[in-house]
Amino acid sequence: MIHNEALFTLSYGVYVLTTNDGKRDNGAIVNTVQMLTETPKRVTIFVNKSNYTEETLRKTGCANVCVLSEQAPFSVIERFGFYSGREKDKFESFPCPTAENGLKYLDKYASAVIGVKVTDAYDYGTHTLFVAEVTDANVISEDPPMTYAHYLANVKPNPKVSVKGEKWVCKICGYVHEGELPSDFICPLCKHPAEDFERLE
Ligand code: FE
Repeated sequence: MIHNEALFTLSYGVYVLTTNDGKRDNGAIVNTVQMLTETPKRVTIFVNKSNYTEETLRKTGCANVCVLSEQAPFSVIERFGFYSGREKDKFESFPCPTAENGLKYLDKYASAVIGVKVTDAYDYGTHTLFVAEVTDANVISEDPPMTYAHYLANVKPNPKVSVKGEKWVCKICGYVHEGELPSDFICPLCKHPAEDFERLE
């Protein structure tokens, strides 16, 4: 038997993964970036295929991993995680500098920025596993990096807000959907399906 609660105990981070499709800078929230080897310095990054960033990273092979700090407000996660880069310029009214690799990075609300170049991409159905070489790595601030647990406990909005009408909350990330929940609904933040939503009072 598989109990999701057991899987929820795994630890994750909160990162903004920035790319450029040749026309526009983009960024998405990902929660899995890990060191793979020390020599050479390589990381793994999992990206959900429903993210435009997955397609861009597969095509361009270049990204910055912006490690969000505990100072990052919910609005930053909302900006990069709740919309698709296909429709929205996520850097609009959010000026950010450009790193050596030509890609944007967050110079505030971040602990560090790590530039990467993809060496391998593996298809795992809903997700692509990218293996990437570190090309650049810089500390942005002394603020501790945000873990997913910190996000859930301190940053995500409290779903117990009293608003009239049907409301559904994502049990995984706390995203609140207002109105009827379609059965094929996908959480815009964590990409979990409608089954992982529960109705609020
Ligand atoms: Fe969610």
